[in-house]
Amino acid sequence: TARPALVELDDVSKYYGTIRALEGVSLEVHAGEITCVLGDNGAGKSTLIKIIAGLHQHDAGTFRIDGDEVRLGNPREALDRGIATVYQDLAVVPLMPVWRNFFLGSEPRKGTGPFKRLDTAYMRETTRSALLRMGIDLRDVDQPIGTLSGGERQCVAIARAVHFGAKVLVLDEPTAALGVKQSGVVLKYVAAARDAGLGVVLITHNPHHAYLVGDRFVLLKRGAMSGGYLKNGITLDELTRQMAGGSE
Ligand code: ATP
Repeated sequence: TARPALVELDDVSKYYGTIRALEGVSLEVHAGEITCVLGDNGAGKSTLIKIIAGLHQHDAGTFRIDGDEVRLGNPREALDRGIATVYQDLAVVPLMPVWRNFFLGSEPRKGTGPFKRLDTAYMRETTRSALLRMGIDLRDVDQPIGTLSGGERQCVAIARAVHFGAKVLVLDEPTAALGVKQSGVVLKYVAAARDAGLGVVLITHNPHHAYLVGDRFVLLKRGAMSGGYLKNGITLDELTRQMAGGSE
């Protein structure tokens, strides 16, 4: 219990003008665990992600990374602190090969790093082996990433965060647009990221998906936490009931 959480929100609130997006939200993200954030449309899930990813700042409460209180000014700061965010629409360039997308944005900040020396063959091979290490067997990393299925693209994004050393992986409804089979595959790789030691934040409106992989659960209703902080041991029935319940 000595180690601080990788990410901790304590009593965090966020307003857009007079609109309450989040109020009094608390959660912890620990290495090797999956913290699920559940909620319907408008519950505040996107706002929560934006605070953790450095796109927005909270108005009240505290945000800690590795025990240090922070206010992230931009997404780069979040990345520098080890927080990688995979958005639903994935920031990929559809016509570029998988391997090129894999390395996109991994360039060091100052132009002095090793990136310039990376050649195509190296990036191809690294992408292939990073995917394989996660158990993702993509035959052709030269194909445009746009030709992959939505689930496959999510898997590549997850492998990418693991490969580039993220400590915290924030996933914005990775299974939202997927069918049962693809959802199962994506959840398998979410679990693989956890098993690789990352702390994962899984945003979802699907209690079953949360139940399958979650260690901690936070339920948002109209910006507020509903049902308190649900620890592991919760049943699927209970999660589903809490999601369906109208109480705030
Ligand atoms: P969804 O899944 O539909 O994206 P969500 O759970 O992510 O929903 P948020 O997008 O965080 O919810 O929105 C929470 C509340 O804040 C909503 O009432 C929304 O209308 C409001 N909101 C979000 N962004 C803004 C903004 N930029 N300006 C004003 N209100 C906003």
